[in-house]
Amino acid sequence: MSLIVQKFGGSSVADAESIKRVAKRIVDTKKAGNDIVVAVSAMGDSTDELLDLAHQVTPIPAPRELDMLLTAGERISMALLAMAIKSMGYDARSFTGSQAGMITDAQHGAARIVDVTPGRLRDALDEGAIAIVAGFQGFNRDTKDITTLGRGGSDTTAVALAAALGADICEIYTDVDGIFSADPRVVPRAHKLERVSSEEMLELAAAGAKVLYIRAVEYARRHGVTLHVRSSFNNNTGTIVYNPGAISPYAAAVLNGETVEEPIIAGVAADLSEAKVTVVGVPDIPGKAAQIFKIVAKTNANVDMIVQNVSAASTGLTDISFTLPKSEGQQVLTALTNEQQNVGFAGLQYDDQIGKLALVGAGMRTNTGVSAKLFEALFEAGINIEMISTSEIRISVVTRADTINQALRVVHTAFGLDADDEAVVHGGTGR
Ligand code: ADP
Ligand code: ASP
Ligand code: MG
Repeated sequence: MSLIVQKFGGSSVADAESIKRVAKRIVDTKKAGNDIVVAVSAMGDSTDELLDLAHQVTPIPAPRELDMLLTAGERISMALLAMAIKSMGYDARSFTGSQAGMITDAQHGAARIVDVTPGRLRDALDEGAIAIVAGFQGFNRDTKDITTLGRGGSDTTAVALAAALGADICEIYTDVDGIFSADPRVVPRAHKLERVSSEEMLELAAAGAKVLYIRAVEYARRHGVTLHVRSSFNNNTGTIVYNPGAISPYAAAVLNGETVEEPIIAGVAADLSEAKVTVVGVPDIPGKAAQIFKIVAKTNANVDMIVQNVSAASTGLTDISFTLPKSEGQQVLTALTNEQQNVGFAGLQYDDQIGKLALVGAGMRTNTGVSAKLFEALFEAGINIEMISTSEIRISVVTRADTINQALRVVHTAFGLDADDEAVVHGGTGR
């Protein structure tokens, strides 16, 4: 008998019919003799709808109340799912995040899990019941308030439960057949990956591949949880996210003893959520970059890429550009403007029409010519590169936002990643 954690995303429980379909799937796993804990997301796009509603009431909703509102979405789906399972003659019990022991820090909207005390889930399992847990939510012991784990956070709920309960596998059910070499909604010829290492998946998630939430991948990596990302619309094997050096028995069985040899490139991802700030006319003397980024750091903004131009010898001035989430743009501009006199720069430019493309693959470590091929493909498509950054297993470039989808497709083709057939997207709106 195995202990399996199954997570169903919003697109898998979008309406009553889908909930019944998912319930049947859970019951089938139970019938096969397994213990099951389920983490469930809010139905369809209901989290976005609740968010829209909040913003119709006030432009800046109070964080505590927003969490209270958004967690209602998962409460609805968990109760409906438990009802559906019970109506099929199997015992099921739903639990909120706090009932399930998801203890977090106090940061509303992006809380981190600090402890998991799943006593009530264990009791339910011991009594033969299926435990259904509301994803995306937790509870802070000091404030005694409800928190949320960040958008896409039901993935983290599932992984944290799998780690705390010592589950054999954490299955992430979604609206595509697994993790693809690119978002199949944008690159129809993306191919499904049989497996991807956790470090590659971390890079892909960080670069905008929302199929898995980055914090969930981090958590799984740290706690040695194997993930199986697959479709809730069919029974196909999906993608195994494995931890190299510690292949679990489940991962070994699914991977069928194949030698784990990394392909050079795992995939490409794009991110349209960032903006570029350029600090123009910065005196090219030691200490200026430090001064600028100290000001930025005080706002807690997450700076991603940084580029400093060669300064014109005649002026002794340079430009420094960096990217950051659009949502943090305004506060950073304000902070820099307030210190303009001190730093002595000439002005600021803000550009929110950028897109970032990332090419990810562990094989980059040992293969040369990857960047040349990437730049060549973009050049041939007439796409201009504005910024470049690299890590050991990733190359990222910034382009105009309106060229990003084309960029994804040409790069995908250039690296020989195109499949023969088009990928199937089973549901969801991609919102
Ligand atoms: P869920 O509601 O199940 O959490 P999400 O919408 O969060 O689903 O994630 C699934 C979506 O992620 C897919 O429909 C797909 O459009 C998108 N996606 C982006 N990049 C990838 C990728 N590399 N592989 C698969 N799906 C991807
Ligand atoms: N319902 C939440 C969201 O839409 C959490 C999740 O789906 O993972 O972000
Ligand atoms: Mg998701």
